[in-house]
Amino acid sequence: MRTLHHWRWRAEPIDGGEAVVFDLDGVLSDATERQHLLDDRRPGRWQRFFAEAGNDSLIEELARLTELIDPAMVLVLLTARPTTIRDITVEWLERHGLRWDLLVMRPEGDYMPSPDAKRMAVHELRNHGFDLRLAIDDDRRNVDMFHREGIPCIYIHSGYYEA
Ligand SMILES: [Mg+2]
Repeated sequence: MRTLHHWRWRAEPIDGGEAVVFDLDGVLSDATERQHLLDDRRPGRWQRFFAEAGNDSLIEELARLTELIDPAMVLVLLTARPTTIRDITVEWLERHGLRWDLLVMRPEGDYMPSPDAKRMAVHELRNHGFDLRLAIDDDRRNVDMFHREGIPCIYIHSGYYEA
C-alpha cells in the first residue's frame, strides 16, 4: 500500500526515498489572524479555527525555502490540521503556488496532542520507505519529538501554537 486515507499526493504516489517535512501552521501558513478564535472556549472552537485556515497569509521566507529543496527529495507537508479541511488546505496551497508532494493530515476523529499525532505520522512515513532527512516546525514539542526520533529539526519562531 503506497498511500493512506489521510495522505494526499499532489500527483502520482512516490515509493519512498529521501524526504523533508514542513509543518503548515506557523511555518508556511500564518495563523495569527485566527489564533484569537481559540480563546473562545465554547464548543466548536476548533471547527471555527480551522474553518478560517483558507484566509491565512503565506509566510514568504519559508515558501522560498521550499523552492530550494532538491526536486529529487519528497516534500512532505505534515500538519495537525484534520482531514476535514483538506479541500481548504489544498486550495490554499495551489493558490499560493507552493511546491509540495504529499500532504499528511490528522485523521478525522483523532484528538491526540500534536506531537503524538506527528510521531505516528513519522512512523507511517518510515513504514512506507521514507527517509526523513529534515523537519521544520514551530512547536517546541514537535521539535523535541523529531529529535527523539533521530530527525534533525529546525525550529521556527511563530508565536503561534496549537493546543
Ligand atoms: Mg505549527
